[in-house]
Amino acid sequence: MKKAFSRKNLWEATPAPLKHLIGGLLRPVPLSWLLGKRFRDHRRHALEAQWWPAERARECQLERMREVLTLAYDKTRFYRRTFDSLGFRPAEMKTLDEVSRLPTIDKQVVAENLLELCTKSIRGINVDVGSTGGRSGTPLHFYLDASRSYAEYAFLISSWERVGYRFGMPMAVLRGRVVEPDRRGLYHEYDPILHCHYYSSFHLSDENMARYLAHVGTLGPCFLHVYPSTVAALARFLLRSGQQAPMNIQGIIAESEIVYPEQRKMVEDVFRCRLFSCYGQSEKVVFAAACEHSNDYHVWPTYGYFELLDKEGNLVTTPGERGEIVGTGFINTVMPFIRYRTGDWATYIGDRCEACGREHIVIRDIRGHRTQEGLIAVDGSEIPWTALNMHDDTFLHVRQFQFVQEMPGRAILRIVPARGFNEEDAGRICRNLGRRLTERLIFDIELVDAIPLSPRGKAIYVDQRIASASQNGVHQ
Ligand SMILES: [Zn+2]
Repeated sequence: MKKAFSRKNLWEATPAPLKHLIGGLLRPVPLSWLLGKRFRDHRRHALEAQWWPAERARECQLERMREVLTLAYDKTRFYRRTFDSLGFRPAEMKTLDEVSRLPTIDKQVVAENLLELCTKSIRGINVDVGSTGGRSGTPLHFYLDASRSYAEYAFLISSWERVGYRFGMPMAVLRGRVVEPDRRGLYHEYDPILHCHYYSSFHLSDENMARYLAHVGTLGPCFLHVYPSTVAALARFLLRSGQQAPMNIQGIIAESEIVYPEQRKMVEDVFRCRLFSCYGQSEKVVFAAACEHSNDYHVWPTYGYFELLDKEGNLVTTPGERGEIVGTGFINTVMPFIRYRTGDWATYIGDRCEACGREHIVIRDIRGHRTQEGLIAVDGSEIPWTALNMHDDTFLHVRQFQFVQEMPGRAILRIVPARGFNEEDAGRICRNLGRRLTERLIFDIELVDAIPLSPRGKAIYVDQRIASASQNGVHQ
């Protein structure tokens, strides 16, 4: 895949031995200096802007929105055509509400108008290719400028600090990176600049998990950066093996997948620290994070412009109501995503978090629309994964599991057994799940050696092969 000529991409491509050498030489230099002025500017902005009163944030949003729309109008054929047909002139825009005159776009529109949506040649040296899931079918590819990483990292770090992360602290990362085994056969790689220890989330055997955790135990005060499904697998391993989680893990940062409440509880109980979740997409239109006191998602006002739209396309403003997350990104200037429908749905909570005082839009229960994580009952109704995702002892001796469904009302539950799995476990799974599925769905258990993860190393809990239910999911 095409990589832009940027400091980040060059560093990524540097061979490990050279990284160690450079990392050693640069150790005395503070990390924020190594990342450069652009990063430091974004970081200063993020730290301040998160406490701005809503009115100040809206002024900034209007300014950025005007910039993005003007760029789109001046440089892309798609938006020139669209805005002209509406008589819309971005430079004359007075209020943010005027944005609602513009049409929303979705993945399909992007796929069909890819080059017409770009502001510059995609062969430019600062253009990266991004892609988003699409569990079934072809993933969507699009373009981003390489420098958006500085802004993105600044927002990430400023979010993580709410839960005690300190810039430069060691981070143990299990997030779908392809990691080769080191000399001792441990799937581990170290980035001495970012202080990140990467472990392979594609190799989660009990033996490997034990080795990862033992290694994490030597890192000193650190954080885990994970997919929720990966940390859940680690927690289940600790539970069934009767081991304690390393005491030096100060917190767990989970991104890129839905975090289920019961899953959160199990992980927090096992690791005895907070599971802090953030939400974003590869398309970089909306970024939201929990806060010091609440697990609800606080939408960063200056990362992108957020709208929550109901099925009719109206703005959701009533607490408790659900809508689709629609975003206009401020940090990608190569391909402006304007009023982009993410396919993810959330519940609107309010315009302010009472617990921390930030005047951010607060949302909860983010789910992929027509989520991949659901089964279809015999009567055609959906059985959401939340109803089945059990974090009691149901899957204790199970390394991985996945439903495969080809017809309504029937499914196969594939299981990769862990050591100690026996008839009793199979019976418990049938009883516990069966209780929730009575008269709606029957399933058979099939023991398998492995269940493939998504190309990005995420667990796919339901391989939904019934066409109408299989389109969208949570991205990134
Ligand atoms: Zn808060």
